[in-house]
Amino acid sequence: MHRKIIHLDLDAFFCAVEALRDPSLNGKAFAVGGRPEERGVVASCSYPARRRGVHSAMPMSQALRLCPGLLIAPARHTVYREMSRQVMARLHALTPLVEQLSIDEAFLDVTALAEPGETLAQRLQAAINRELKLPCSLGVATNKLIAKIANNVGKAAATGDAPPNAITVAPAGQEAAFLAPLPADALWGVGPKTAARLAELGIQTIGDLARWPEADLARRFGKHGADLAQHARGVDQRPVITQREAKSISSETTFARDVVDGAELRRVLQAQAAEVAGSLRKKQLFGATVKLKVRWADFTTITRQVTLAQPTDDDGPLYAAANRLLGNVWRGQPVRLVGVGVSGLSSGARQLSLWDKPDERAERLAQAIKTLRARFGADAIQRAGELTALDDI
Ligand SMILES: [Mg+2]
Repeated sequence: MHRKIIHLDLDAFFCAVEALRDPSLNGKAFAVGGRPEERGVVASCSYPARRRGVHSAMPMSQALRLCPGLLIAPARHTVYREMSRQVMARLHALTPLVEQLSIDEAFLDVTALAEPGETLAQRLQAAINRELKLPCSLGVATNKLIAKIANNVGKAAATGDAPPNAITVAPAGQEAAFLAPLPADALWGVGPKTAARLAELGIQTIGDLARWPEADLARRFGKHGADLAQHARGVDQRPVITQREAKSISSETTFARDVVDGAELRRVLQAQAAEVAGSLRKKQLFGATVKLKVRWADFTTITRQVTLAQPTDDDGPLYAAANRLLGNVWRGQPVRLVGVGVSGLSSGARQLSLWDKPDERAERLAQAIKTLRARFGADAIQRAGELTALDDI
């Protein structure tokens, strides 16, 4: 089982929006940005302008020297933001797992959808072309690194004056082969300095880098070297991080009376971990970071968090982590509130096993326990499993 990741980037976005307003700009060399006499900079430039050496972030005066007759349109950021919102809404209609990188760029994790990544990419592109009249390019791969590189490759391969509107697929299982012929600086994190140091070693392509001993790269470049070795082999585990990461899924309980009994605190933590895990499973998400919140009798509130080695949607690791965090801060003082949360939400962050299947019975049980506790207090009911798990305190 592998992930399906799409990278989407609008083609010369600001220019495309300006050409919608004024279709006579189509096919012409023009740029969006500030005026040269005001030391303006190119924010976006049309493909005919790019063919003549103009690129974004270039001073407009230089762009005009390279491309005499270059037309200049002032930027209308409010309009671009509104168009961007409409594009992102179409991505969110496909999956909630959207990581927006900038105004015109995003990753999507479509692993949970049945159709092939390429089909979904075609559908998205068609919708954005047809409904918003904007060209866009997409890269499809099994991870973020390769999806983005694939998209860059597809866009760079386009010739002529039309926007690329490309879809480029790096097939599953062929990640390393796809990367091998590309220059080393096509990898994220390889800037001119690193590229120069690699070139001194005779490393020109990503394939050269993949063949170089990993230990030697780690020795020369530290942690960055180890990452380079992994990335050059097409390995990238980074999850698509949604806006929801900022929020977390959590459960907290304010006690009617301050609690000083460790066993009771741990029982509550375990019920909370079960509830949070249930929400994760229902949403088909995994959480990477576990957060414990504790409020003391004097209303001071502390939070402690830990990132798990493996993202999870299972009560066990959530409870174990929360319990450890509690052990670090609790010395028998009265507790007014306790809560467990997870963040760093992602989908398909690990292989699914039978154990990870949502279990409706467990859901209903957790819900029933919660209801009973709300009505009769935390001691009203305990699951056998909770009692067993408390043995390791
Ligand atoms: Mg773009």
